[in-house]
Amino acid sequence: MNSLILVAAGMGSRMGASVNKLLLEHDGRSLISYTLSHVLESRRLEELILVVKDEERTFFEEILAKLSPQIPVKLAPGGKTRLESVRHGLDFLHADSEKVLVHDGARPFVDGATIDRAFDTLTAETPAVVVAIPCVDTIKEVEGNEISCTLDRSRLHRAQTPQGALTPLLKRAMASLTSEEGITDDASVLERAGVPVKVLPGKEDFFKVTTPGDWKRFIDMTEKKELPFRIGQGYDIHRYDESRPLMLGGVRIAEKGGLLGHSDADVLLHAIMDALLGAAGLRDIGYYFPDTDERFAGADSQKLLIHVKQLLEEEGYVIGNIDSTVIAEKPKLAPHISAMKESIAKALEISPSQVGVKATTNEKLGTIGRKEGMAAMASVLICKQR
Ligand code: MG
Repeated sequence: MNSLILVAAGMGSRMGASVNKLLLEHDGRSLISYTLSHVLESRRLEELILVVKDEERTFFEEILAKLSPQIPVKLAPGGKTRLESVRHGLDFLHADSEKVLVHDGARPFVDGATIDRAFDTLTAETPAVVVAIPCVDTIKEVEGNEISCTLDRSRLHRAQTPQGALTPLLKRAMASLTSEEGITDDASVLERAGVPVKVLPGKEDFFKVTTPGDWKRFIDMTEKKELPFRIGQGYDIHRYDESRPLMLGGVRIAEKGGLLGHSDADVLLHAIMDALLGAAGLRDIGYYFPDTDERFAGADSQKLLIHVKQLLEEEGYVIGNIDSTVIAEKPKLAPHISAMKESIAKALEISPSQVGVKATTNEKLGTIGRKEGMAAMASVLICKQR
């Protein structure tokens, strides 16, 4: 079994924060939730031990619940030092654990492929691994204010995590450790026990969030991944039902010559709603307003549109603009365009200049050309507000 101990019981004193930095949030998401979701990308990992302070346990449980991991996750109590935390983590490993990696909770941008490579590398011949990157700066040893020597840069690497070993080996190395002095990572424990540790390539992005400058770098990296703009498209078609009033864009166009549907059959608003929902990455209107639900029988689509606007607001989006086209052979829609634009803008609390409504015929071709029904298409641009 492949196990990973994620150490998340630190304090973040160098960040100047009074709470555990791993629980600090940016844009509604904590640092540790990034680390967790990247760790859980691993295809080799079979159990996760998360080491946390007792008083913070519930926060971590909530974060885990949102991620719904597909492998068993256990919470172990944090220790006074990092090494003690790792020891606690080892106590919680499954009896069948064969390989174990340790990862710092404060390295959010680890990736599943690197974790998998570390597990794959661990064998009887290569019993321990550490992820590291070559030093680019020249490293000086300093005594007082004076350089005492310059180290050979070509031999120097910066150790990152994950680091790990065959499980029994790391347990033995930990148990045989007589002093924690000079031990700043798990590889040092293995080295001291005389275990050869293989270096695997790390990445600059695997940096540890330690100082306020690192926190800014973390924010920059999370923000770069998602542009604030989203586009959406929607389409709808309804059959004519001569006996019903015609509702389009929230406007009562005529008392007869309307459309068949469970709600008021406002084909234009339906297309716009689907475009908005799609842009926000939400489900379609059939999901939110099912035509099997009696509450939506004869429903005023304008009210449903207002509800869609609220769903978008909950996701933090504002509307940039909407463009739409109604495709119908009848009736003539030109006299109603302004009223439709105003009605849609009012429901969405935007300006009519942000709403496009156009009408076209289908040149007597196909279903619409035979006047069997009316269709509408919509495109939208929405923007995430910071
Ligand atoms: Mg519809």
